[in-house]
Amino acid sequence: MYRTSIATVSLSGDLKSKLRAIAQAGFEGVELFEQDLLTFEGLPSEVGAFIRELGLRLVALQPFRDFEGLPEPERSRAFERAERKFDLMEALGTDLLLVCSNVSPKALPGLDRAAEDLYELGERARQRGMRVGFEALAWGKHIQDYRDAWEVVRRANHPAVGTILDSFHILAQGLPLSAIPRIPPEKIFLVQVADAPRLEMGLLPWSRHFRSLPGQGQLPLTAFMQALGEARYEGFISLEVFNDQFRAAPPHEVAQDAHRSLIYLHELAHPENLPPVPQSLGVGFVEFAVNEGEAAQLEDLLARLGFVCTHHHPNRQIHLWQQGQIRFVVNSDPEGFAHNYQLLHGATVCALGLEVSSLPQTLERAQAYRLPVLEPSDWPLPALEGLEGSLLYLMEPGNTWLEGLTPVASAPTHPLLGRIDHIAQVMPPAKLLTWRLFYRSVLGLEASDLTEIPDPKGLIESQAMQNPERTLRLVLNASQHTETLASRFLNAYYGGGVQHIALETQDIFATLAAFKQAGVEMLPIPQTYYLDLEARYGLEEELLRALKQYSILYEQTEQGEFFQAYTKTFADLFFFEVVQRRNYDGFGASNASARIAAQLQQRA
Ligand code: MG
Ligand code: MG
Repeated sequence: MYRTSIATVSLSGDLKSKLRAIAQAGFEGVELFEQDLLTFEGLPSEVGAFIRELGLRLVALQPFRDFEGLPEPERSRAFERAERKFDLMEALGTDLLLVCSNVSPKALPGLDRAAEDLYELGERARQRGMRVGFEALAWGKHIQDYRDAWEVVRRANHPAVGTILDSFHILAQGLPLSAIPRIPPEKIFLVQVADAPRLEMGLLPWSRHFRSLPGQGQLPLTAFMQALGEARYEGFISLEVFNDQFRAAPPHEVAQDAHRSLIYLHELAHPENLPPVPQSLGVGFVEFAVNEGEAAQLEDLLARLGFVCTHHHPNRQIHLWQQGQIRFVVNSDPEGFAHNYQLLHGATVCALGLEVSSLPQTLERAQAYRLPVLEPSDWPLPALEGLEGSLLYLMEPGNTWLEGLTPVASAPTHPLLGRIDHIAQVMPPAKLLTWRLFYRSVLGLEASDLTEIPDPKGLIESQAMQNPERTLRLVLNASQHTETLASRFLNAYYGGGVQHIALETQDIFATLAAFKQAGVEMLPIPQTYYLDLEARYGLEEELLRALKQYSILYEQTEQGEFFQAYTKTFADLFFFEVVQRRNYDGFGASNASARIAAQLQQRA
């Protein structure tokens, strides 16, 4: 495994809390961002001592800006500045200075001129037992490409001068990686990594605000790590992640995710070192935590939706409801995990059972990713901590967990609903990145592109995490704006939770006709939606009338069709969706605003 490091700029808080979080998360090294010294009461030598006490190594001081290619008198002044940095490094106890390529309009072009400057800097560094690493910023005045930075280092030809590779600056520009394996490994002084979502914006704001941890973005990091492997680089890999959400999140949470992301990164380069990703198969069960009154209401709704209560717990207030392959546990027991969860969050989903192909493999992976495996008392299954302290039980297919329950009825023989299509969770924006990394690394789920759903009060970001077979689909929703519907669910949950569960039917019209007869209250959709639908697709009169009659939302693609309808919101906290897919892989994004508007109308 590469040696792990992180730049202090990646975390929020004062320097002491950052450093503590970094040490606790298990990092070996840290890169100090000079500005962070301002938040430390004490001398640089005391910072250095504090870092060493924590068992961390100070890998580098950064950044040293606007150095190479300057005319006089700026050139001489730059060397004076460098000497002051060396003094600081001596006090701190680090030997590496990160020099990033010049962005000053005064900088002159020419690789030889820059090499000349780096040589002299290297000579001054060497005399003090130090080294300088040269990094190409994607927006440097003359040097933006890592190959040019390396060429400068090569021409400088000084033992104390090496290059620093930063995955963001390289991959965001789409530079070819073929030159990386040709750099001698001892001349790569440090490797910085960051991922990022694909965004249409300038390199500078993209880099300063939207970098993310490996596994959270869309840059081709696998290829980058392979190139590094070919270069036989063996030094520190340091996360340098400028991200607005991380700057607002608790440092220990980001540090833990960050350390996990390096394990993920290492796995990209050496998949043989971790237990293989087990297949995630689907949702084994969903457990609702409710009080006694809510249990009666929820069970009434489930019965109308065609579910049958098939099992009772012999001595606790726990019922299992089934239909097709769907299993819902209604837990209103006055003791246990679900009860405590309900006290804190209200009526909500407190646990999901995830079916995996191999339980031992999944647990091994969880351990490799430093995730504690829990053994809650409610069910005889191991669990991982899920969103907002909920539980993710892990299980292999089969119903051994039901063995303690008393059967009271058999499941319906002609179910209206066959299986869980997707589960949508709402969370704060920073958590979306956490869970994206978790589902991708531990469970091997694929991340879809991020979609933005316009809510009348702001944008909601939506990201689907799914297995290749599409038997497990989780939709993660987050919103920055406090007034969006997603945020209101968030506030109601104190942090995040399941917002809706979509159930699949093979015949949505028959299913909704049966619901109508059973008195299920569905979410009414405004008539204007259907006018728009007619204009959009030119649907046949009869189909349009049926959609209208049952308040069904509809989406058409070149190859397929999607039908969806929603129940009214239960206890103001969650709702069910009924979907029918015909050769369709999405989630009805074009209908989301209509659904949200209809829900807001219901509330008003
Ligand atoms: Mg960098
Ligand atoms: Mg949905």
